[in-house]
Amino acid sequence: MASPKLIEKLEKTIQSIPDFPKPGILFKDISPIFLDSQLYEETIADLANFSRGKIDAVCGIESRGFLFGIAVAVALGVPFILIRKKGKLPPPFISQKYDLEYGTAEIEMRENQLKPGQRILIHDDLLATGGTTEAAAKLVQKQGGIVSQFSFLIGLNFLNGKEKLKQFHAEIYHLLEY
Ligand code: AMP
Repeated sequence: MASPKLIEKLEKTIQSIPDFPKPGILFKDISPIFLDSQLYEETIADLANFSRGKIDAVCGIESRGFLFGIAVAVALGVPFILIRKKGKLPPPFISQKYDLEYGTAEIEMRENQLKPGQRILIHDDLLATGGTTEAAAKLVQKQGGIVSQFSFLIGLNFLNGKEKLKQFHAEIYHLLEY
């Protein structure tokens, strides 16, 4: 698990921007991590340690889930599968709708990239209400994958996202929590 030193460095590096993109939201900006290649490497190593030997593929959620997810997959020598927002992927693909605060959204995955029975890590930068991640897990199950792990850089505990993920009986990991 993450060393206190790594956690401290990430806490100092990630910026909190109030009232973005809407009033009342404290936006966690992870982009300064990419200005420090050593910190990026240490973060990937930590995320990879959590999943080593436990998964057969990584599914990353667009778009910030790609930034770490693909590097974790490469570090572990397993496939990386993109989960994208509606309308970005060519057919054949499968879709999953989910609720937003106002209205609904949809995410998609190419068909036949995930093999039935594979143990899957679902990765995103941040767990908020859990709606996006829950939809991603349903896409994995629709393809016959086993939802084994969830990992995030940041968990916003006060939004109870973990409650939505309990149904999958998977391990949940985040480096930082607020
Ligand atoms: P949710 O479906 O509510 O768990 O939202 C998760 C998605 O929204 C993730 O892909 C995050 O990148 C993004 N997100 C939600 N809240 C924040 C926040 N406070 N700061 C940065 N990104 C956020």
